[in-house]
Amino acid sequence: MNQFIIEVSEEEIRREKEKGRQLRKTRWWKNRVGRGICHYCGGTFSPSELTMDHLVPIIRGGKSTQGNVVPACKECNSKKGYLLPLEWEEYLNSARGGE
Ligand SMILES: [Zn+2]
Repeated sequence: MNQFIIEVSEEEIRREKEKGRQLRKTRWWKNRVGRGICHYCGGTFSPSELTMDHLVPIIRGGKSTQGNVVPACKECNSKKGYLLPLEWEEYLNSARGGE
């Protein structure tokens, strides 16, 4: 499993993570989690249960910008971390189909 070639430097990762921390403090982000909706499963959560997730992960070249971060519940966030892309698609389909 060596197909994911990481071309992002440690320095860039560090910088984007720091930008993410700053973004979490903004009114924009607080409004987003204030709505309490997980971007992936569409479930309703309290703001403290929602985490910031990068649509394109930082290690894949994603940035900490408003267009690339979404609120995700802890379950979706951890599932996204360990599922294969195909399994993640299936999870999303079943989660959304249950609405
Ligand atoms: Zn979710």
